[in-house]
Amino acid sequence: MTSITPNAQRLVRALVVDGPTHRADLARSLDVSRATVTNLTTRLIEDGWVEELQQEVGSLKNPIGAAAGLGVLASVMFLVDSYTVTLARFDGRVLKNLTLTGPVGRPPTERMTAAASLLRTLLVECGVGAGALRALHLAVDTQMDALTGDVFAARASSRWYGVNPVRFFEDEFGVPVHAQNSARLEGLAEYLWGVGSEASDLLYVDVSYGVTSGHVVDGVIRSGNRGGSGELGHTIYDWNGPVCTCGNSGCLMQYVSIPALLRDYATATGAEASWSRFCTQVAADDPDARRIAERAAVILGRVLVSVCHVIDPETVVLNGPVARQVPGFTDIVAATVRELALPLVARNLRVVGAELDDVHAATARAGIESLRRVEAVISSAIPD
Ligand SMILES: [Zn+2]
Repeated sequence: MTSITPNAQRLVRALVVDGPTHRADLARSLDVSRATVTNLTTRLIEDGWVEELQQEVGSLKNPIGAAAGLGVLASVMFLVDSYTVTLARFDGRVLKNLTLTGPVGRPPTERMTAAASLLRTLLVECGVGAGALRALHLAVDTQMDALTGDVFAARASSRWYGVNPVRFFEDEFGVPVHAQNSARLEGLAEYLWGVGSEASDLLYVDVSYGVTSGHVVDGVIRSGNRGGSGELGHTIYDWNGPVCTCGNSGCLMQYVSIPALLRDYATATGAEASWSRFCTQVAADDPDARRIAERAAVILGRVLVSVCHVIDPETVVLNGPVARQVPGFTDIVAATVRELALPLVARNLRVVGAELDDVHAATARAGIESLRRVEAVISSAIPD
């Protein structure tokens, strides 16, 4: 292949950053003539750096995208009972995406080996070798140091303790690995393709067995110094409250989570209930179930008032089984925040339920989008 000109490099960069683009739009964004773009793309297509997307066969109106010659990006995401691997072009187009369930409760090395094996299979199926991989996004459902990959000893990290997921995938594939927490990546997916698509500043809150959050600003997950932010479930609501798995007392997840709601219901009624039974009882206006659900929603709303006073988001998106399945939960949280937050914060704030359904595919694809916002990753695609 021949070396490419600065203008050609700018064109490739534009495709990588903005995604597939028509020639006329490229001419505008690069501030060159259409003839120049046509000449550039013709050469870049011949050299295998970019390709024409066949929306209209043979038409100059076809959008231009990144070709296999630039390499591919991978996203690997682990949730409690599944792992998802996505392969994509540098312009964000997904080539392959596959979710496999399990192996549940298996050692972390076994789970990582299974995901690495799936990634190799997808690389082969896409007709590219492992050498075409330029960078990998890794999302793990635990607290992990985003820079070093260390997982710290804690009960909440027990599924992953003792391994270094970042180093594992770096060693397996020899590419830079960018790490993120799975729940925060879900927030980015919701920002990009869900209810937050018009928000520049979004707080994502997932309420399930714990409470996790992700802050997305201008399409980038703000996860703090080492990826430790967003642990909303361990925000202290009452220092004299129930002891938490983290060792502190009165954490939010001791009031607002599936185990907390079921515990409170069992205490109030003397009867154990399944999660679906509890939700049915709330829907049926059972006084105990409804009171417990409303109390949890008000407590989450109060804690969110504090969070909103610190970060002033445009939209708060609530997701997870508690927000999705407990009737009226999101409305009470929203009303509590609006009632108690300072006017400047409250008057422009939206508190809404999440929209995305296929969380696996969208979230793993968000890992690709996250990579495409890293300058070192973008630079690695630009030919010399
Ligand atoms: Zn805690």
